[in-house]
Amino acid sequence: MLIVKKFGGTSVANKERIYNVAKRCIEDYQKGNDVVVVLSAMGKYTDELITMAQDINENPPKREMDMLFTIGEQMSVALMAMAMNKLGVPAISLNAFQVAMHSTSVYGNARIKRIDCERIRNELEQRKIVLVTGFQGINKYGDYTTLGRGGSDTTAVALAAALHADACEIYTDVDGVYTADPRRVKNARKLDTVTYDEMLELATLGAGVLHNRSVELAKKYGVQLVVRSSLNTNEGTIVKEGAKMEKMIVSGVAADADAARVAVIGLKDEPGVAFKLFNALAKHNINIDMILQSVGRKGTKDISFTCSDLDADEAEQIISDTLPFESIDVNKNVSKVSIVGAGMQSNAGVAAKMFEALYDANINIRMISTSEIRVTVLIDDINTDRAMNAIHDKFDLGDN
Ligand code: ADP
Ligand code: ASP
Ligand code: MG
Repeated sequence: MLIVKKFGGTSVANKERIYNVAKRCIEDYQKGNDVVVVLSAMGKYTDELITMAQDINENPPKREMDMLFTIGEQMSVALMAMAMNKLGVPAISLNAFQVAMHSTSVYGNARIKRIDCERIRNELEQRKIVLVTGFQGINKYGDYTTLGRGGSDTTAVALAAALHADACEIYTDVDGVYTADPRRVKNARKLDTVTYDEMLELATLGAGVLHNRSVELAKKYGVQLVVRSSLNTNEGTIVKEGAKMEKMIVSGVAADADAARVAVIGLKDEPGVAFKLFNALAKHNINIDMILQSVGRKGTKDISFTCSDLDADEAEQIISDTLPFESIDVNKNVSKVSIVGAGMQSNAGVAAKMFEALYDANINIRMISTSEIRVTVLIDDINTDRAMNAIHDKFDLGDN
């Protein structure tokens, strides 16, 4: 068997954990399997690099950020190779150049385009454990790129797809995918299985346990994933195609604090306004999520939308340069809270039940959006944990 195993930052945070991971990989290796291991930077090292960068320049060039980021993952794979070597097992570390892991050009948010498998295959043939840096790629300019925060999961899935691996295991610091972040929702329950679509929505809506691109790739290439803990041997969660889990209507609750609401008041009520506004934002690569347009009155209308906190100020500037309006309001102290579930499609009243949970908790909703398998509300940051718990309890997703 060829197994791709990915370990996140907390799983390799110190010497003891590095040896723990080394031993787990060696177990598989000694059973005769080919083992490819993807690692993230140790502990919170990526955050530390951001702090260091901003201390030098509060607005560092994205190219240089990626150059900086890649040392985190490189450190992990090199140390891991040394640990395995010490345990008497041949291992080799490879970075994105050595593999090579080709990506699109966008610094900080690149997508993997193609992976050369030859080097990895050669090393595996020599019976080595191959350790690959997560999160990084190389672009057509011969530069390092990174795949977005949490992107090592995507490296692992892309490698599993490219190598036609028999298994792809994502090891993290919780036992699997839960009905909500177990660190925030006290009754959260581990799911045995979750479908690609549900997991994709959960990940996109803030369940940081998996990078959403990794789930997208897994679905596209039919890579079944197992999410489990690196610190125990409990069974994890299987992410796969298929029937919705346990006939539940809602499978999980997710929150995303990286949301800002931009309200543009008093735009002209005429054709083309929405186009001009969102086209200008799109040209600057600003992703928009929820959109709300008011009913026109006295020749004017209002448009509100959400985007990433990081893009909000730029969005305000772009809009001001593009269109006439009366006023604009940017609020970064908001979060998106969502419920996700394939079972919602055929169930009336799911949204109402979610709103009731928020009403019971006396939490005001600022915006709402829905799709076939999710309902998202925008609320004030300070209410997020309370909202998650209230909704989770209302849908009885917990253990009790
Ligand atoms: P890693 O470094 O291993 O990639 P991450 O911090 O990226 O770990 O992801 C694991 C974390 O995701 C958990 O510690 C947990 O707090 C968080 N999380 C958010 N939503 C969920 C969920 N629905 N199920 C499990 N964990 C979740
Ligand atoms: N080290 C990177 C990050 O912290 C990638 C990852 O952990 O997946 O975002
Ligand atoms: Mg992660």
